[in-house]
Amino acid sequence: MTFPVDEQGVVELTRALVRLRTVNEPGAGEVAAAELVAETMRGFGWSPEVTEVAPGRPNVVAVVDGGLPGPTLMFEGHTDVVTEGDLDRWSVDPYGAEIRDGKLYGRGSADMKSGVAAMIHATRALQLAGPFPGKVLVGALVDEEGMMLGAKHFATTAQAAGVDGAIICEPEEGEICTSAKGAVRIRVDLLGAMAHGAMPQHGRNPVVAAGRLLAALAEEQASLQARHGTHEHLGDFYITPTVAVAGSLSQINVIPARATVAIDIRTIPGVEHTALVERVRELAVEAGRPDGVTAELTVVDDRPVVEIAQDHPLVVALAGAHEKVAGEPARYGGVPGATDGTILTRDAGIPTVVYGPGGKWIAHQADEFVEVDDIVRCTHVYAEAAYRFLSS
Ligand SMILES: [Zn+2]
Repeated sequence: MTFPVDEQGVVELTRALVRLRTVNEPGAGEVAAAELVAETMRGFGWSPEVTEVAPGRPNVVAVVDGGLPGPTLMFEGHTDVVTEGDLDRWSVDPYGAEIRDGKLYGRGSADMKSGVAAMIHATRALQLAGPFPGKVLVGALVDEEGMMLGAKHFATTAQAAGVDGAIICEPEEGEICTSAKGAVRIRVDLLGAMAHGAMPQHGRNPVVAAGRLLAALAEEQASLQARHGTHEHLGDFYITPTVAVAGSLSQINVIPARATVAIDIRTIPGVEHTALVERVRELAVEAGRPDGVTAELTVVDDRPVVEIAQDHPLVVALAGAHEKVAGEPARYGGVPGATDGTILTRDAGIPTVVYGPGGKWIAHQADEFVEVDDIVRCTHVYAEAAYRFLSS
């Protein structure tokens, strides 16, 4: 089976998407990219559904029916990008989509407008090759770089309930990522009593409690790392305090009433989130006790570890397609953060695997780029993988 991929078309669509500044920040948003995606789909004779999941933030979803009975595969990508940041750090226009020495530069070139272009053109090539079993659902969703509103919304739809597997088209350097770390974000408020710094005996100092808590969390991390070991694709489990706020630099003579610590926990398979949250609560209470400080804990976000078996038909199809198109053995990996796939698995039970054009580490950096050859190769891999999965 060969698939007539429009190799020039997929690169041109990537460039056109990169030229649209769809930064995930107030006043920007995904509309322009969503419109281009929908218009491209209509040009193929598809009927995309455009659904606003928040004001000015439309998901675009098209279903391409192969005409024969079979399962449903989803290709998923996001249309938002992170900010370009400091322009002095760029040697090219972040929205110029310039191609130099085989590299296409710009914010979102790797993460992940090339992936969005590739999934659309792969599905088109599959369709042009003739009837195929089942359906392909192509979803370009919003807000992956924020609260993942697009994926959260899609996961509640009837369409999501009919999806048998999804390829998340994030930049992974040719790795087939069968796992993604879990994440728990926790806020701890330590509540004491305000007093004069000269008379600490009249206060209850939450700053001291925060210090004890930070030390206890470091010990807890070490003990859990020792218990759970290093995951072959995801590496280590981490408890990382990222925020510690208390008192005021203009009021050094005042013991504050409150200290707030925020913790970013990244989990690997085997670490149970409920027990972990209870353990952190226990440590916070213990940290406050000697000073009469109480603790309030809020779970701000909870994203599970996501895993798919290496012998799942979707992974087998993708691995076979990669081997055929790239001419090298499949390589497997893991995603250190969460993707929209995490939400699709958590909220809709969809098995997900992550694979797409562009380097893993170039995302969110200055001078972000994607190799033009990588876009083209990935488009062929997606078409072949879709055909194999739907025929399996
Ligand atoms: Zn991304």
